[in-house]
Amino acid sequence: MEQILNFIGGEHRPAASGSTLPVYDPATGSVYAQAPDSDASDVEAAVAAAHCAAKDWGRTPADQRAALLHRLADAVERHSEELAQAESRDTGKPIASARSMDIPRAIANLRFYAAAATQFASESHAMEIGAINYTLRQPLGVVACISPWNLPLYLLTWKIAPALAAGNAVVAKPSEVTPMTAFLFSRLAEAVGLPAGVLNIVHGTGPGAGQTLVDHPDVKAISFTGGTATGARIAASAAPRFRKLSLEMGGKNPTIVFDDCDFERTVAETVRAGFSNTGQICLCGSRVLVQRGIYERFRDALVAAVAELTPGDPADDATRVGAIVNLAQRDKVLAAITEARALGGTVLTGGEPVMVPGRCAQGWFIAPTVIEGLPADCATNQEEIFGPVVTLLPFEDEAEAIALANSVRYGLAASIWTRDGARAHRVAAAVEAGLVWINCWMLRDLRVPMGGMKDSGVGREGGFEAMRFFTEAKTVTVDHR
Ligand code: NDP
Repeated sequence: MEQILNFIGGEHRPAASGSTLPVYDPATGSVYAQAPDSDASDVEAAVAAAHCAAKDWGRTPADQRAALLHRLADAVERHSEELAQAESRDTGKPIASARSMDIPRAIANLRFYAAAATQFASESHAMEIGAINYTLRQPLGVVACISPWNLPLYLLTWKIAPALAAGNAVVAKPSEVTPMTAFLFSRLAEAVGLPAGVLNIVHGTGPGAGQTLVDHPDVKAISFTGGTATGARIAASAAPRFRKLSLEMGGKNPTIVFDDCDFERTVAETVRAGFSNTGQICLCGSRVLVQRGIYERFRDALVAAVAELTPGDPADDATRVGAIVNLAQRDKVLAAITEARALGGTVLTGGEPVMVPGRCAQGWFIAPTVIEGLPADCATNQEEIFGPVVTLLPFEDEAEAIALANSVRYGLAASIWTRDGARAHRVAAAVEAGLVWINCWMLRDLRVPMGGMKDSGVGREGGFEAMRFFTEAKTVTVDHR
């Protein structure tokens, strides 16, 4: 049984209480590790260590902070195969995805914000009367980074890299469901000589360690990625203390397919948008809106392509669809499919648990699922399922496509598929989403603002947006007359 440890004040240690949480391999359904079930005393120790380290780290020249982030990126790169194997086992995602997406992106996050540390600049505003204002962007001190289970190391580094680059000390709380790569990463942080207390990683439950961290008076900002209900709880806790908050939450993203699209490419990319990471990406296109003229043809091609996606052993190089992250999530997805059937939906492919023979016989797999025939306002089309399930909805014209796209409480991402450039831009402007892709999906540039509107989020990550979030702006005015 592998033991995961907290990383507090530069040391690896178990929870003070000695309590642990089981960590499951979703592909086999068995426990393979134990993680600390941290409580208030562990969170207190981590925040205290961060508090001690924050002043020196904030005064460390930017190029030295950048050099340490580069060293961390190099270390992740050297250990990328080990990290990919660990990520695949912890999440149930195919090893090919962990190798091509999760770990390379974690390295990119660290390198991107290493560069940002040296490029981040502040503004000055000269006044004609003979005065000048300049803006200091100072680190906040201790910040909390709370990340989910779907892209564990990818999203952990997406938060801690800008926080550290901007000169803050971090207390991170990864999801208890997938703690392994955060632990391995903390070993690398120790090995490359990140000063003690600059990065602390506390493992434990959301309502336990997570909530205690959110409530800690010395935590100046909270960067959270996870479900909308959890985000609402965190916002309610943080609001009376006026803490800075960045919330990246759920989505119910439309893939909008017009009848003049590049048909074959749109089918292939709709499949990718719907089922990448087994549909467990907040940006996945889970509602496929198709213009009436091509609806039947598109549906049939989509269903044929999805039917080919067979879940398999995540450790197999050839597997493209892995397991569902845990039993609770598997049951939640299956319950959503049962509800869709009860509401009158037709399951065109999938809709059932899958048994992968051999070592994965007890694992948690679901066949990629396509459903049609449901009204736009029913629960299946309104609520995030966060699994391998997409629904199909026909539309007549541009106005109806926009109305359907905007008919949910979420506003994270959308993709638009058409050869009509003017229409693409009109629809992009009208769709309520923080990210809109035209004739592509999840084509990411780390410089752009990333985040959602409506119930999908508050604030933006990415580029200098994250550096601004993790700093306090102070205006200094000099009268030089
Ligand atoms: P959760 O909201 O359950 O958890 C997210 C993180 O918050 C976990 O580390 C969790 O810990 C922690 N947490 C839970 N309760 C609290 C609390 N009261 N106080 C502090 N921390 C808490 O989300 P999931 O892990 O289930 O992730 C899936 C969700 O994340 C989906 O809704 C998805 O859309 C969203 N997501 C959004 C993205 C975006 O950028 N908008 C990107 C990726 C995912 P623990 O797991 O240990 O309970």
